[in-house]
Amino acid sequence: MNLAFDTNLAHHYTSNSQIAKLLSENWVLNNSYCPSCGEIPLNEFENNRPVADFYCNKCSEEYELKSKKGKLSNIIPDGAFSTMIERINAENNPNFFFLTYTKTGQSVTFSLFPNNFSHLK
Ligand SMILES: [Zn+2]
Repeated sequence: MNLAFDTNLAHHYTSNSQIAKLLSENWVLNNSYCPSCGEIPLNEFENNRPVADFYCNKCSEEYELKSKKGKLSNIIPDGAFSTMIERINAENNPNFFFLTYTKTGQSVTFSLFPNNFSHLK
């Protein structure tokens, strides 16, 4: 697993939020696998699909990526946490990936918050 972003991809972008999204999604595509069944790689939904960002061809699990610069403890704003837990616990909602990275993108931390803990064995 590569723990840094491929920042070469960002040369044509000037928006920090666009760069963060591009590098985060690229990192997941290249470094992750389906936590539910182990399938490699995950597949990316087309842009702007509202429900989830990635899916597994094999077991059809869906994953939503949340990425943020900084520490994992800062990734969920106050007030949004209970809403997110409700979504996680609801039927047919995606699992969440949390990706945090340092300012320069040289170090990435990746966590999974499954929608159903029985998926983890
Ligand atoms: Zn799978």
